[in-house]
Amino acid sequence: MSSGGHTTVIKRVLERRVHEPEAREDTTATVAVMLRVLPPPHALLSIRAPDTRKHLEQRIHREMLDVLMCEEHETLDQLREQFRSVVITDSLPLVRRIRAQKLPREPFILYIAPSEDLEEIDSGLFAGADDCLARHAGEPALKARLGTARRIAELEEVLRIALIENRELSTTDELTRVASRRFFGKHFPREIDRAARYRRPLSLILCDIDFFKNVNDTLGHAGGDEVLKQFGARLQESLRRGVDWVARLGGEEFAVILPETNYDQALDAARRLRACVADRPFQASNNTVEVTASFGMCNLQQVPLGDRKTADHMLRIADAALYRSKHAGRNRVTATLMPMNPVRRGVNEIDELLSR
Ligand code: GH3
Ligand code: MG
Ligand code: MG
Repeated sequence: MSSGGHTTVIKRVLERRVHEPEAREDTTATVAVMLRVLPPPHALLSIRAPDTRKHLEQRIHREMLDVLMCEEHETLDQLREQFRSVVITDSLPLVRRIRAQKLPREPFILYIAPSEDLEEIDSGLFAGADDCLARHAGEPALKARLGTARRIAELEEVLRIALIENRELSTTDELTRVASRRFFGKHFPREIDRAARYRRPLSLILCDIDFFKNVNDTLGHAGGDEVLKQFGARLQESLRRGVDWVARLGGEEFAVILPETNYDQALDAARRLRACVADRPFQASNNTVEVTASFGMCNLQQVPLGDRKTADHMLRIADAALYRSKHAGRNRVTATLMPMNPVRRGVNEIDELLSR
């Protein structure tokens, strides 16, 4: 019965809503905190008529808008030098000039019209102002207009911050600043597609810090975190900038992706990475600590086109190589050359080389 079906869908949506109020509350609280801690928006006050200027100066409080007084001819330069999210002006030509500028960010413009005449108000809006107010408007109208300008500027700022943080959070590992597991999941298959398209080799190195539990036990969790941070940075330092990249897959396990890199070059890179970890002690919590890591490399000399399983295969083979390094005594590199069709040959049969 169709009505029964509808009821079920709606019921499910409603049930989900009942179970989700906390998430909603969380975001409301977050926005409220962001709004509270943001400083008042920066505004430019560019007013020709001396009495209007004085009147506004006295009525715009510091907590409402952080106002900079500015001569009309300086306003555009000021805006270009440091963006101000609100401009208050009684000059129509200035409104037009700001809108004609195509600035990277658009300020909210409040135009102060000479009178309440509808034509005067309209010409401000036509020129590009977001809001208009008559010069002699009463206190409540002025307060409401400034409040609107402030609110829009603040919400825009909150949105900008949230978008930047969101992008950072989802692509970057918060602790080590290398790429996140999420980023790896999305971009490693893209590297494979690219290698297949241009018929280039691709290499993957997995690494895991040896006896990291001991590091935590000796230095404490915060000390362990410090080592992880430095570990990520060391890996990145000894790679080709802007080509090879590092991702933290979880805990003390990292992946290094080496595009257009053949077996010998990738083996060299893995050996270099092993040495750059083991050769110099790490500094954490006012201590120095010797750290080593084990590496498993997988090279695919020619990447097959359109095989959706290649990423999984490379990961499994690199992981098996890493496991070999652990079992052979840690602090070493195991390199494997992946055949075009790894399914036909078991991982154990794949050619491998164990080395320092
Ligand atoms: P193995 O050589 O076999 O890899 O030994 P291990 O001690 O490194 O491996 P194990 O997997 O037994 O322990 C990993 C430890 O890493 C346990 C866990 O508490 C710690 N760890 C995981 N994530 C973090 C983190 O974000 N910060 C810190 N400080 N420690 C972490
Ligand atoms: Mg470990
Ligand atoms: Mg581990």
